[in-house]
Amino acid sequence: WDMFVLAFVERFFRPTFRKDDFVLGKKLGEGAFGVVYRVSNKLANKEGDLVLKKATEYGAVEIWMNERVRRACSNSCADFVHGFLETSSKKGNEYWLIWRFEGDATLADLMLSKDFPYNVETKILGEVQDLPKGLERENKIIQTIMRQLLFALDGLHSTGIVHRDIKPQNIIFSEGSRTFKIIDLGAAADLRVGINYIPKEFLLDPRYAAPEQYIMSTQTPSAPSAPVAAALSPVLWQMNLPDRFDIYSVGLIFLQMAFPSLRTDSGLIQFNRQLKRCGYDLVAWRKSLGPRTSLDLRKGFELLDLDGGIGWELLTSMVRYHARQRTSAKASLAHPYFDKEGLLVLSFTQ
Ligand code: ADP
Ligand code: MG
Repeated sequence: WDMFVLAFVERFFRPTFRKDDFVLGKKLGEGAFGVVYRVSNKLANKEGDLVLKKATEYGAVEIWMNERVRRACSNSCADFVHGFLETSSKKGNEYWLIWRFEGDATLADLMLSKDFPYNVETKILGEVQDLPKGLERENKIIQTIMRQLLFALDGLHSTGIVHRDIKPQNIIFSEGSRTFKIIDLGAAADLRVGINYIPKEFLLDPRYAAPEQYIMSTQTPSAPSAPVAAALSPVLWQMNLPDRFDIYSVGLIFLQMAFPSLRTDSGLIQFNRQLKRCGYDLVAWRKSLGPRTSLDLRKGFELLDLDGGIGWELLTSMVRYHARQRTSAKASLAHPYFDKEGLLVLSFTQ
């Protein structure tokens, strides 16, 4: 009932839009399931800075996920404004999704800059005093980013949503809140009500996907009917720990932030090949490098080994073969890696 009343109230008091209200701007992205544009809204000058995704039939699920996030954990994801079905005689059915424009840079953009992670420090803190650059400072920035990512992810997981496509390209820096937020719920699954329409053959991004193909074990019936799922899914969640799929991906992002040479596609793909050969065992991978470790990798290990190696400890508890051996988002946030103060701004935003 609560949800019903809330939905009803929102229908009347939230702005609703139609196709003709928008002026299309720059194209921001194009995937298999839709095209994304920056748009402005003709009617309200102040609210003109928006993002529009024109999606295929899977857009219906993405709207559902965004509505749920808005009610349950709105700080985790980009600010969703509205979603509706647009029927045109030419293209058939299209789902239109509208968000507030959060900012220009995804974590992928920021990570590819030579200046990373200092370019993020400036974004979070504004102009920074001329502090000495060094491992300790880089570690603090990376720690702050990790905390924000895990905080956002914990929000999603506590709501019962698994994202399944966590990667730097799907993490946007919100200029308004000066924090990272998750975007692109196009592949997400809502386990509490069993909503998951993405077909089995949907290709998970192989660069960031955990070794298990699907988030549920093969014995789990796919997309059970809603009432059954509502009763069963908390149990399924316990059994299969599908949220740990996202944790693996976040672990890979942590790794990329620590090791500059793994930030490129080719670097990451090569790493994935090596890790697979080591049975997805990071400790074995580290050993396998032996003394020929490149300077750049050595720097990453040095960073993760700071403070008795708590960074390395956290990383190795996320990137593991067995989902059930991976730590959860909530448990990660309580990890000693985060005991030391990150950037000062955190005490105000979280
Ligand atoms: P897809 O990956 O399916 O094409 P995304 O939802 O990931 O669609 O969006 C594509 C790109 O559009 C993102 O990588 C990002 O650059 C940009 N983008 C998406 N949502 C926002 C937003 N709310 N604010 C700013 N940029 C966004
Ligand atoms: Mg995307």
